[in-house]
Amino acid sequence: MSLTVLMNAGPWLSVPPPGYGGIENVIATLVPELRRLGVRVVLASVDSSTLPVDEKFSVFADGQFPALQRPYNQVCGISQAHLNGVVRALHSRDDIDLVHDHVEAVGLATLAAMGPDAPPVLHTLHWDLAKHPALYGNLDGGDRVRVNGVSASQLARAPRALQEHSVGHVHLSTPLAVDADRRPRADKGDYLIILGRINPGKGQDVGARLARQVGVPLVLAGPVGPYHRPEDLAAAGDEARQNPDVRFFYDEVAPHVDGDLVRWVGTVAGQERDDLLAGARASLFPLRWEEPGGTAVVESLALGTPVVATARGCLPELIEHGRTGLLTTDEEELGDLLLAASLLDPDECRREAAVRFTPAVMAEKYVGLYELLRQSAAAG
Ligand code: UDP
Repeated sequence: MSLTVLMNAGPWLSVPPPGYGGIENVIATLVPELRRLGVRVVLASVDSSTLPVDEKFSVFADGQFPALQRPYNQVCGISQAHLNGVVRALHSRDDIDLVHDHVEAVGLATLAAMGPDAPPVLHTLHWDLAKHPALYGNLDGGDRVRVNGVSASQLARAPRALQEHSVGHVHLSTPLAVDADRRPRADKGDYLIILGRINPGKGQDVGARLARQVGVPLVLAGPVGPYHRPEDLAAAGDEARQNPDVRFFYDEVAPHVDGDLVRWVGTVAGQERDDLLAGARASLFPLRWEEPGGTAVVESLALGTPVVATARGCLPELIEHGRTGLLTTDEEELGDLLLAASLLDPDECRREAAVRFTPAVMAEKYVGLYELLRQSAAAG
């Protein structure tokens, strides 16, 4: 296939990311598979990105991640400066067939404004957009600009302007799903896990309270705001409380963390993360928001760990109740489900991941969308 895609990862983190980094992880998973399918990839990112690509360029020397702690308009300013660099590059060359953009609203608006001679743009939505109806405003760019979601439920909740430009959704995937069927079964420990940013939407307070109520050990893994290790948070002192996730942790989660039945271990990465996830009886998602894509959900399945969750956001699309997990709309019922999770078969979870959530599946769907956009741009 002769197709050159400019993959715009934005100016924040390197690809793959050093630790946490949702969008950068998606790109790091997608790009090798696209290249295997013959797609040429030009990566617009930061200098420190190490992902093998056909060409890469950066506007900023290094990631600006600390800027995420700054006011939102400054964050947008950095994205905009990066996007201006991308636009300059697009004006100066004619070999880019399509832009696959991941830079929130700024990316879409900037690329849509480039005019009819610019390459078609596919913008992947990564967030729960119902909360940010004004973020995208009115879209322009005609048939040249399209968006895709990471789940059907995310798109259904998106502002109308985005739905009108949508070409459907592509579920997230994980490299862990590739050999999921052949991976030796992990010995299951006697604990549950919540893997994710500590945040009200992820509901660690609910999970910790219920785990204590039913007497099941629970491991909370993930950063609290910018703090990755319990000792770093402890050393940060009162100033750390300016961060809303830190306040949430201290006020709502920490009272249930007794270091015995309920533990917070900070961010886990690499093999440690996979072992912890694979060894859990179940992965818990006591959600209080509409989870848009759920990377940790598909990672859990790939490692043979059933999912117990509130039936919100993309969870009902990813989990089959009674086979790969247990879902409920009733927060209190989650406590009973925690106890029932050990009845589910880890192999069913692995099989599901190996069929639905491999990087190859994701890349094939994206190539289909690229073709669709190219055809409709050529016809228009
Ligand atoms: N993650 C991790 N270590 C942690 C907590 C989370 O590596 O301690 C990873 C997790 O495995 C997943 C990503 O961070 O790949 C979180 O993505 P998800 O879509 O689940 O949630 P988001 O934070 O994007 O809402």
